[in-house]
Amino acid sequence: MESQGKNNGSPLITRRVEASTLFLATTPPTEPSGGGEPELAVRLRCHVTKYIRAGRGRGQRQVYVYRGSGAEASLVAAVPRDVLVDEDSVRDVMRLLLRAIWPLRDLDLTDDEWEAILPEDVVPQLADLARGLDEGSRSAAVVELAVDRHIRYSAPRVLMTACRGAPPATEGKDDGCSICLEVLHEEAAAAGKGVPVELPGCAHAFHRRCISKWFRKKPTCPLCRGNVTKHLDPELCSCSLN
Ligand SMILES: [Zn+2]
Ligand SMILES: [Zn+2]
Repeated sequence: MESQGKNNGSPLITRRVEASTLFLATTPPTEPSGGGEPELAVRLRCHVTKYIRAGRGRGQRQVYVYRGSGAEASLVAAVPRDVLVDEDSVRDVMRLLLRAIWPLRDLDLTDDEWEAILPEDVVPQLADLARGLDEGSRSAAVVELAVDRHIRYSAPRVLMTACRGAPPATEGKDDGCSICLEVLHEEAAAAGKGVPVELPGCAHAFHRRCISKWFRKKPTCPLCRGNVTKHLDPELCSCSLN
Protein backbone atom coordinates (compact mmCIF):
# COMPACT_ATOMS: atom_id res chain seq x y z
CA MET A 1 0.00 0.00 0.00
CA GLU A 2 1.64 3.22 -1.11
CA SER A 3 0.42 6.78 -0.96
CA GLN A 4 2.16 10.03 -1.74
CA GLY A 5 2.03 13.64 -0.66
CA LYS A 6 2.38 15.62 -3.86
CA ASN A 7 3.85 18.94 -4.79
CA ASN A 8 4.42 20.03 -8.38
CA GLY A 9 3.69 16.50 -9.57
CA SER A 10 6.56 14.72 -7.79
CA PRO A 11 6.37 13.02 -4.41
CA LEU A 12 7.63 14.81 -1.30
CA ILE A 13 6.55 12.11 1.05
CA THR A 14 5.99 8.44 0.28
CA ARG A 15 4.18 6.17 2.66
CA ARG A 16 4.05 2.40 2.56
CA VAL A 17 2.36 -0.04 4.90
CA GLU A 18 3.29 -3.71 4.94
CA ALA A 19 1.86 -6.52 7.00
CA SER A 20 2.82 -10.14 7.33
CA THR A 21 1.61 -13.04 9.38
CA LEU A 22 4.35 -14.29 11.66
CA PHE A 23 2.47 -17.02 13.35
CA LEU A 24 -0.87 -18.78 13.41
CA ALA A 25 -1.65 -21.41 16.00
CA THR A 26 -5.00 -23.07 16.47
CA THR A 27 -6.19 -25.55 19.00
CA PRO A 28 -8.49 -28.38 17.86
CA PRO A 29 -12.13 -28.12 18.94
CA THR A 30 -12.87 -29.49 22.41
CA GLU A 31 -15.43 -32.28 22.84
CA PRO A 32 -18.96 -30.85 22.95
CA SER A 33 -20.04 -30.56 26.57
CA GLY A 34 -23.81 -30.39 26.63
CA GLY A 35 -25.03 -27.72 24.22
CA GLY A 36 -24.50 -23.98 24.10
CA GLU A 37 -23.15 -21.80 21.31
CA PRO A 38 -19.97 -23.04 19.71
CA GLU A 39 -17.19 -20.61 20.50
CA LEU A 40 -14.11 -19.54 18.61
CA ALA A 41 -11.66 -17.47 20.63
CA VAL A 42 -9.41 -15.37 18.45
CA ARG A 43 -6.38 -13.69 19.96
CA LEU A 44 -4.31 -11.32 17.90
CA ARG A 45 -0.80 -10.16 18.72
CA CYS A 46 0.62 -7.33 16.72
CA HIS A 47 4.14 -5.93 16.36
CA VAL A 48 4.19 -2.44 14.94
CA THR A 49 7.31 -0.77 13.58
CA LYS A 50 7.59 2.70 12.08
CA TYR A 51 10.43 3.71 9.80
CA ILE A 52 11.13 7.26 8.76
CA ARG A 53 13.78 7.81 6.17
CA ALA A 54 15.03 11.07 4.76
CA GLY A 55 16.29 10.64 1.25
CA ARG A 56 16.01 11.73 -2.37
CA GLY A 57 17.61 15.14 -1.94
CA ARG A 58 20.97 15.62 -3.62
CA GLY A 59 23.90 15.54 -1.24
CA GLN A 60 21.83 14.17 1.60
CA ARG A 61 22.95 11.47 3.88
CA GLN A 62 20.35 8.78 4.24
CA VAL A 63 19.14 8.56 7.78
CA TYR A 64 16.90 5.93 9.22
CA VAL A 65 14.90 6.63 12.27
CA TYR A 66 13.43 3.61 13.86
CA ARG A 67 10.75 3.44 16.46
CA GLY A 68 9.34 0.12 17.40
CA SER A 69 6.58 -0.96 19.70
CA GLY A 70 4.79 -4.20 20.32
CA ALA A 71 1.29 -4.53 21.55
CA GLU A 72 -1.33 -7.10 21.94
CA ALA A 73 -5.09 -7.06 21.83
CA SER A 74 -7.46 -9.93 22.20
CA LEU A 75 -11.13 -10.45 21.69
CA VAL A 76 -13.11 -13.60 22.25
CA ALA A 77 -15.58 -13.96 19.45
CA ALA A 78 -18.50 -16.27 20.11
CA VAL A 79 -19.59 -16.98 16.59
CA PRO A 80 -23.23 -18.09 16.02
CA ARG A 81 -23.59 -21.37 14.13
CA ASP A 82 -25.26 -19.91 11.02
CA VAL A 83 -22.40 -17.56 10.25
CA LEU A 84 -19.59 -19.98 11.06
CA VAL A 85 -19.10 -20.99 7.45
CA ASP A 86 -18.90 -17.41 6.27
CA GLU A 87 -15.39 -16.06 5.63
CA ASP A 88 -16.76 -12.52 5.63
CA SER A 89 -17.73 -12.82 9.28
CA VAL A 90 -14.25 -14.07 10.15
CA ARG A 91 -12.88 -11.08 8.26
CA ASP A 92 -15.15 -8.77 10.32
CA VAL A 93 -13.80 -10.26 13.54
CA MET A 94 -10.24 -9.68 12.34
CA ARG A 95 -11.05 -6.06 11.43
CA LEU A 96 -12.48 -5.50 14.90
CA LEU A 97 -9.38 -6.93 16.51
CA LEU A 98 -7.02 -4.89 14.38
CA ARG A 99 -8.85 -1.66 15.13
CA ALA A 100 -8.64 -2.40 18.87
CA ILE A 101 -4.83 -2.34 18.79
CA TRP A 102 -3.53 1.07 19.81
CA PRO A 103 -0.13 1.13 18.03
CA LEU A 104 -2.02 0.52 14.80
CA ARG A 105 -4.45 3.36 15.52
CA ASP A 106 -1.39 5.48 16.25
CA LEU A 107 -0.25 4.94 12.63
CA ASP A 108 -3.25 6.92 11.41
CA LEU A 109 -4.05 4.44 8.68
CA THR A 110 -6.37 5.15 5.78
CA ASP A 111 -9.28 2.78 5.07
CA ASP A 112 -7.27 1.20 2.25
CA GLU A 113 -4.33 0.65 4.55
CA TRP A 114 -6.55 -1.00 7.16
CA GLU A 115 -7.74 -3.41 4.47
CA ALA A 116 -4.16 -4.03 3.34
CA ILE A 117 -3.04 -5.20 6.76
CA LEU A 118 -5.86 -7.72 7.10
CA PRO A 119 -3.99 -11.02 6.90
CA GLU A 120 -5.75 -12.75 4.00
CA ASP A 121 -4.02 -16.09 4.49
CA VAL A 122 -5.39 -16.28 8.02
CA VAL A 123 -9.06 -15.78 7.16
CA PRO A 124 -9.70 -19.11 5.35
CA GLN A 125 -7.86 -21.02 8.06
CA LEU A 126 -9.96 -19.50 10.81
CA ALA A 127 -13.15 -20.11 8.81
CA ASP A 128 -12.13 -23.77 8.43
CA LEU A 129 -11.61 -24.05 12.15
CA ALA A 130 -14.98 -22.42 12.81
CA ARG A 131 -16.71 -24.85 10.43
CA GLY A 132 -15.35 -27.77 12.42
CA LEU A 133 -17.03 -26.60 15.62
CA ASP A 134 -19.97 -28.58 16.93
CA GLU A 135 -22.67 -27.37 19.28
CA GLY A 136 -21.05 -26.61 22.63
CA SER A 137 -17.46 -27.10 21.46
CA ARG A 138 -14.73 -24.50 21.73
CA SER A 139 -11.56 -23.67 19.94
CA ALA A 140 -8.91 -20.99 20.05
CA ALA A 141 -6.60 -19.33 17.57
CA VAL A 142 -3.61 -17.09 18.12
CA VAL A 143 -2.55 -14.88 15.23
CA GLU A 144 0.70 -12.97 15.34
CA LEU A 145 1.17 -10.14 12.90
CA ALA A 146 3.96 -7.76 11.96
CA VAL A 147 3.02 -4.35 10.59
CA ASP A 148 5.69 -2.02 9.21
CA ARG A 149 4.95 1.51 8.16
CA HIS A 150 7.62 3.29 6.11
CA ILE A 151 7.73 7.01 5.46
CA ARG A 152 10.33 8.39 3.13
CA TYR A 153 10.73 12.04 2.36
CA SER A 154 12.89 14.56 0.59
CA ALA A 155 14.18 16.62 3.51
CA PRO A 156 15.18 19.91 1.78
CA ARG A 157 11.98 20.04 -0.22
CA VAL A 158 9.80 19.26 2.78
CA LEU A 159 11.62 21.92 4.81
CA MET A 160 11.04 24.44 2.01
CA THR A 161 7.29 23.89 2.28
CA ALA A 162 7.47 25.28 5.84
CA CYS A 163 8.91 28.60 4.55
CA ARG A 164 6.88 31.43 3.11
CA GLY A 165 7.61 34.53 1.08
CA ALA A 166 9.34 37.27 3.07
CA PRO A 167 7.55 40.64 3.29
CA PRO A 168 9.09 43.44 1.19
CA ALA A 169 12.00 45.36 2.70
CA THR A 170 11.10 48.57 4.50
CA GLU A 171 12.50 51.81 3.00
CA GLY A 172 16.29 51.91 3.11
CA LYS A 173 16.63 48.76 5.17
CA ASP A 174 17.80 45.41 3.83
CA ASP A 175 19.69 43.20 6.26
CA GLY A 176 20.85 40.95 3.46
CA CYS A 177 20.99 37.20 3.11
CA SER A 178 23.42 35.91 5.72
CA ILE A 179 24.25 32.87 3.60
CA CYS A 180 25.56 34.67 0.48
CA LEU A 181 26.00 38.08 2.18
CA GLU A 182 24.22 39.89 -0.69
CA VAL A 183 21.20 42.15 -0.39
CA LEU A 184 17.95 40.29 -0.16
CA HIS A 185 15.31 42.36 -1.82
CA GLU A 186 16.98 44.34 -4.58
CA GLU A 187 15.92 43.02 -7.99
CA ALA A 188 19.47 42.62 -9.30
CA ALA A 189 20.60 40.61 -6.30
CA ALA A 190 17.53 38.45 -6.30
CA ALA A 191 18.02 37.51 -9.94
CA GLY A 192 19.03 33.87 -10.10
CA LYS A 193 18.68 33.39 -6.36
CA GLY A 194 14.94 33.27 -6.09
CA VAL A 195 12.66 35.47 -4.06
CA PRO A 196 13.41 35.99 -0.36
CA VAL A 197 11.71 33.54 1.96
CA GLU A 198 11.09 33.63 5.66
CA LEU A 199 11.67 30.68 7.99
CA PRO A 200 8.85 29.51 10.26
CA GLY A 201 9.27 30.46 13.91
CA CYS A 202 12.17 32.94 13.78
CA ALA A 203 11.13 34.73 10.55
CA HIS A 204 14.76 35.13 9.45
CA ALA A 205 14.87 35.71 5.70
CA PHE A 206 17.17 34.27 3.00
CA HIS A 207 17.19 33.84 -0.75
CA ARG A 208 15.10 30.84 -1.72
CA ARG A 209 18.02 29.23 -3.52
CA CYS A 210 20.48 29.86 -0.66
CA ILE A 211 18.31 28.39 2.09
CA SER A 212 17.28 25.45 -0.07
CA LYS A 213 20.97 24.51 -0.56
CA TRP A 214 21.53 24.95 3.18
CA PHE A 215 18.67 22.55 3.98
CA ARG A 216 20.54 19.77 2.18
CA LYS A 217 23.02 19.87 5.05
CA LYS A 218 21.11 21.16 8.04
CA PRO A 219 17.46 21.53 9.02
CA THR A 220 18.16 24.61 11.15
CA CYS A 221 18.17 28.38 10.63
CA PRO A 222 21.72 29.52 9.67
CA LEU A 223 21.31 32.60 11.89
CA CYS A 224 19.62 31.48 15.10
CA ARG A 225 19.82 27.67 14.68
CA GLY A 226 16.08 27.36 15.22
CA ASN A 227 14.98 23.89 14.17
CA VAL A 228 12.71 24.11 11.13
CA THR A 229 11.59 20.48 11.49
CA LYS A 230 9.65 21.57 14.60
CA HIS A 231 7.22 23.30 12.27
CA LEU A 232 6.58 20.19 10.18
CA ASP A 233 4.26 17.27 10.69
CA PRO A 234 5.11 15.90 14.19
CA GLU A 235 6.02 12.57 12.65
CA LEU A 236 8.78 14.10 10.54
CA CYS A 237 10.10 16.14 13.50
CA SER A 238 11.52 13.03 15.08
CA CYS A 239 13.99 12.71 12.19
CA SER A 240 17.56 13.49 12.83
CA LEU A 241 19.10 15.18 9.81
CA ASN A 242 22.51 16.04 11.20
ZN1 LIG B 1 21.52 34.49 -0.44
ZN1 LIG C 1 16.41 32.18 12.53
